[in-house]
Amino acid sequence: MNADPILRPSPISASVDFDADGIQHGHLRLPWSRDDSAWGSVMIPVTVVKHGEGPTALLTGANHGDEYEGPIALFDLARTLRAEAVSGRVIIVPALNYPAFRAAKRTSPIDKGNLNRSFPGRPDGSVTEKIADYVTRSLLPLADIVLDFHSGGRTLDFLPYAAAHELPDKAQEDRCFAAVAAFSAPWSMRMIEIDAVGMFDTTAEMAGKVFVTTELGGGGTATARSAGIAKRGVANLLRHAGILAGRPELGETRWLDMPSSDCFGFSPEEGLVEFLKDLGEPVAKGEVFARIYPLGHTGLAPYEHRAALDGLLAARHFPGLVKAGDCLSVIATTAENA
Ligand SMILES: [Zn+2]
Repeated sequence: MNADPILRPSPISASVDFDADGIQHGHLRLPWSRDDSAWGSVMIPVTVVKHGEGPTALLTGANHGDEYEGPIALFDLARTLRAEAVSGRVIIVPALNYPAFRAAKRTSPIDKGNLNRSFPGRPDGSVTEKIADYVTRSLLPLADIVLDFHSGGRTLDFLPYAAAHELPDKAQEDRCFAAVAAFSAPWSMRMIEIDAVGMFDTTAEMAGKVFVTTELGGGGTATARSAGIAKRGVANLLRHAGILAGRPELGETRWLDMPSSDCFGFSPEEGLVEFLKDLGEPVAKGEVFARIYPLGHTGLAPYEHRAALDGLLAARHFPGLVKAGDCLSVIATTAENA
């Protein structure tokens, strides 16, 4: 037996042949032995469309199970994409953390795994780690361009944006931001992460891929507008890659920057939150833009949450109550703030 877990084969088997021409709908089957199914499986839906010569796009949704724009756009694309329209290959996994998606939760109900903190994964790890490992070692090597959809889920809400990260390889970074521009969401972000360890983003970027992510809304649902942004964005990205014919349908996008970790605001208290600004509204450094009222007493002053920098409100805590340590807000800067 090989001692190195990375050299073990993945326990996941695909019912589709990624090298076959045409359209195939199938599953990534992950053995999951449990009380109600001794030799049961997790069945992750997958579509592969291959035709002609061209690059491969890997499109993933529901990396977090309670974010819906990606699954909507990708279940729709898998149903409507015609093989003859494709030059190259499109691999579509609308609900990557499928157990979490079925439970309508951010993390997996099986192992509490947060898929986007589980990369590069382990073939002998938890169910979530096995999914990450399969993506890292089986899907990612097939891909030239990767789009991983996110939104705020049940606890955050975002201005709708596509994003990429600053990278050490500036040529790769340029390709990523060109793809963000082609996605053409209403907002485009130069993004930094609170906690990049274990993210799909980091794994794909280190593998040299063109990687685009999104935050398209939140609150545990999708709107007509946010789902439309997702559908148009993925089609634009496929046109940009040359996999679909034609040029991206570019709308107006405004670029945002996250210049430092000061962008992230965290609540020091639990309480009832009152936002004094809505998403997209400007905030000035030092300005109070949210109040947090104590829950158990009247007559007490609320905690005042102040902006650490000039910018606009790009994300906010979604539910009405906050806990100590919750991310309350993200302030992004525009060209006017630079
Ligand atoms: Zn997410």
